[in-house]
Amino acid sequence: MSSRRRTLLKVIVLGDSGVGKTSLMNQYVHKKFSQQYKATIGADFVTKELLIDDRLVTLQIWDTAGQERFQSLGVAFYRGADCCVLAYDVNVMRSFDTLDNWHEEFLRQANPSNPRTFPFILLGNKIDIDGGNSRVVSEKKAKDWCASKVNIPYFETSAKEDYNVDAAFLSIAKTALANEHDQDIYFQAVHDPVPETEQKGGCAC
Ligand code: GDP
Ligand code: MG
Repeated sequence: MSSRRRTLLKVIVLGDSGVGKTSLMNQYVHKKFSQQYKATIGADFVTKELLIDDRLVTLQIWDTAGQERFQSLGVAFYRGADCCVLAYDVNVMRSFDTLDNWHEEFLRQANPSNPRTFPFILLGNKIDIDGGNSRVVSEKKAKDWCASKVNIPYFETSAKEDYNVDAAFLSIAKTALANEHDQDIYFQAVHDPVPETEQKGGCAC
């Protein structure tokens, strides 16, 4: 009998208020979309089970309760994240311009062991609006930004039309899984017992 290890992956979604973070999660997990703007939600996170390469994965996706507009999100939100999803609205330049701040804020708060290789994914949302005629951020501009940050994968999505949402979150899960693997190896290395010979005569600091 093959043993299947269940893996819990924590994913957090960041970006300006109104870009569609909650809608993307709702579409992905509940297959629902609402036009109504609800700044607050009850739960801190939603979960979705996935099978990736024969591995059972529970994706725990953390949403903000709207406080991204006026206050910091607190350490519990960032702690132990396996992947950070950055979202912006392709029709709102400001939401693209603030991506650098969100990227930096994540690295500062989550303080990952290797900031250079920590996985991010960028979502350009609301591509359905006005058939794309009101977009102000081109795909090229978004991809250039991704390239400037050690090749962040980029997806254009519509939470309303359920366009590319599954594909984006599958990539998010795979990226998070790959990162989790790295951590396993890292912890193993750190906790390896130090051979006796190396312990003697070492400095006490
Ligand atoms: P959040 O503040 O980032 O969580 O944004 P919300 O998910 O609450 O969405 C803000 C508003 O944008 C709501 O009125 C949503 O219905 C709307 N919205 C979200 N995603 C889309 C989308 O892909 N297309 C369109 N047309 N509207 C969207
Ligand atoms: Mg929200």
